[in-house]
Amino acid sequence: MAEKPGGYLGRVLRVNLGSEKITIEPLDHSILRKFVGGAGLGARYLYEEVPPSVEWSDPDNRLAFFSGPFGGTRYAGSGMISVVSKGPMTHMAGSSQANGFFGTFLKFSGFDGVIIQGAASDWKYLRIHDGTAELRDARDLLGRDTLETENIIRSRLDRQCSVYGIGPAGENLVRYAAIFGDHGHVAAHNGLGAVMGSKKLKAVAAERGHEKIEVADPERYAAAVKEFARKFHKMQHPLFQYGTADLVGLAKKLGWLPVKNYTTSEFPEFEKFTGESIRRNFKTKSTPCWACRKGHTCSIQIEEGPFAGFEGEEPDYEGVAAMGSLIGQTDPATTIYLCNMVDRLGMDINESGYVIAWLMECYEKGYLKKSDLDGVEMTWGNGGAVMEMLKKIAYRDGCGDLLAEGVKRASEKIGGEAADCAVYTLKGASPRTHDHRANWPELIDTCLSNTGTIEVTGGAPKPEELGLEPVKNPADPVEVSGMNAKLNGKGQFLDSLPLCRFCMQDFKSPIEALNIITGWDMDIAEAIDAGRRVVNQFRVFNFRHGLTKEMEAPSVRYGSTPSDGPAEGRAIMPQWNALRRNYYEQMGWDPETGKPLPETLKKLGLPDLIPGLSS
Ligand code: SF4
Repeated sequence: MAEKPGGYLGRVLRVNLGSEKITIEPLDHSILRKFVGGAGLGARYLYEEVPPSVEWSDPDNRLAFFSGPFGGTRYAGSGMISVVSKGPMTHMAGSSQANGFFGTFLKFSGFDGVIIQGAASDWKYLRIHDGTAELRDARDLLGRDTLETENIIRSRLDRQCSVYGIGPAGENLVRYAAIFGDHGHVAAHNGLGAVMGSKKLKAVAAERGHEKIEVADPERYAAAVKEFARKFHKMQHPLFQYGTADLVGLAKKLGWLPVKNYTTSEFPEFEKFTGESIRRNFKTKSTPCWACRKGHTCSIQIEEGPFAGFEGEEPDYEGVAAMGSLIGQTDPATTIYLCNMVDRLGMDINESGYVIAWLMECYEKGYLKKSDLDGVEMTWGNGGAVMEMLKKIAYRDGCGDLLAEGVKRASEKIGGEAADCAVYTLKGASPRTHDHRANWPELIDTCLSNTGTIEVTGGAPKPEELGLEPVKNPADPVEVSGMNAKLNGKGQFLDSLPLCRFCMQDFKSPIEALNIITGWDMDIAEAIDAGRRVVNQFRVFNFRHGLTKEMEAPSVRYGSTPSDGPAEGRAIMPQWNALRRNYYEQMGWDPETGKPLPETLKKLGLPDLIPGLSS
């Protein structure tokens, strides 16, 4: 086995819930420089251990939590964890990153990652601490929401810990159930909470153990951490001052604030929802993650009105949009309350928002009647009705049973005109809560990515960092798709460190830090190759699990032409086939099928995946 690089512990915890057997396995050092950690190692294990015959809810599906070489270091944002599995929304790869503390505490507990397989005979939670782990009875936690679950488990453990768990939605296998932890952080996409529920695993807790993380160059590390922190704390960005809800103003200006299920871009009340306005009108308190003093995440209190006395987490941009403009909600306090309700029930805020918005449009247009909705009046912005419906979904009660399948499956079942007004990609998941018809890079990314969400475009990638010229004509979707392909790899590399993207000063600084920690001499080109390796690893997994070219497209409404606002009249669909083909070509994939070409896989050091594409 190759020598262990700095930053890694070289140990993976494997938990079989069926047999209750817990083992510790060595991490193969020879694959670390290729896949790094986080999403990269998760992708590799997923491919090797989950064949196409395994469904998302089968005990043989894996749920992997991976930190990486940064976990346990003093770099800001290194508490991040990547969660990887075969997800129920797409029936393909799911990979979601959550900030907080788990990645670091997992390392302090002695492990680079945890792989969970099998299904428990009754509800359990997993406690990980100081080089070992145990399964504990969680039957008394059944029905508890995500925050209660976290708080109760915390109170039962002696040491400081990070707890990620599921709420009623995960227990009831709502397809878009998510995994929540560290007070408001979430692995949101592709129903990873439903996978956890299918295994009867209520939560995973990592204690702050005593393991020491050894870095390759301790002297340079101490100086580099200081310098990284100095530059990071000098970074001025409204996101740090006002949270990601600060994006509401920009989104409105550029036309990508989603309003009333994409029926308009007019939302005169948007100013009440900006991060600045929320922080001015509500009491907030900074709740930063491990080693980060930026504290753009906050807890929040509502002091007046019907929700006076409520305390919870400040919603991020996606929450504000999903439970605000997207569903026609004009009262910020109601939006804050609804966002917390979605989190505590344990569902992805994006899909929840699109389901509710779709119901409201169907109700307004008469495609669905009150009697179809168990008597709930789903008028635009009706907060009480939304609360009732969210509970129905989380408990699969009445009409909530169908809605728990997500907006694609629910709208297809209802059919007719109702089917055409649902926002989703044909792979099965809905996009992040943006009106991507005014943001083509993200629309293309969402439809062509492997994990059911954006992979290339998050965190404002900068072409110049990779020596590229910016897009000349943003109104040319084929050119835009080419830029997406050229930038692809950067996002998956960062998710493989894994490190919070908000902490990135540029693309060079995390690579330099990685080299100091590990002792490697990676450059930008090798980092991009590492990210592309992850992209292709997930892609081959997806083709083996049923991906076709036809699935890489938006639904009728998602790909429609805006009728007002800054993007009015801009149509992407006439060029969809051309842009998709261009993207495939530039990614080194077969332009007809989208499958990675053998030479692409060989170039990335993945020749072992070639046979997987023909089976
Ligand atoms: S920037 Fe925000 S999300 Fe990232 S580590 Fe800091 S507080 Fe957490």
